[in-house]
Amino acid sequence: MAPSKTQIAIVGGGVAGLVTATLLHRHGMDVRLYEQTPVFGAVGAGIQLSLRS
Ligand SMILES: Cc1cc2nc3c(=O)[nH]c(=O)nc-3n(C[C@H](O)[C@H](O)[C@H](O)COP(=O)(O)OP(=O)(O)OC[C@H]3O[C@@H](n4cnc5c(N)ncnc54)[C@H](O)[C@@H]3O)c2cc1C
Repeated sequence: MAPSKTQIAIVGGGVAGLVTATLLHRHGMDVRLYEQTPVFGAVGAGIQLSLRS
């Protein structure tokens, strides 16, 4: 039987969780992101992130 793919759970969809999930996903990892907030909204100044593909 082939080994199962490791699943990664990230709790919290803030900037740290979103960036981590995005990068792990881009490296082929099976990532699940769990966020408690039902709706995202702006709370401060904008932050722009640029990720190279
Ligand atoms: C009003 C305000 C304005 C700000 N303005 C700026 C700014 O202009 N520039 C700047 O650089 N920084 C700013 N900051 C700081 C910046 O928001 C934080 O440094 C940054 O968001 C931290 O990111 P994080 O991913 O670590 O945590 P967070 O952004 O706090 O994300 C954590 C996430 O985890 C979720 N979570 C927590 N517990 C659970 C759970 N049990 N299950 C599921 N989900 C969970 C929360 O809902 C949240 O979405 C501001 C902060 C505030 C409060």
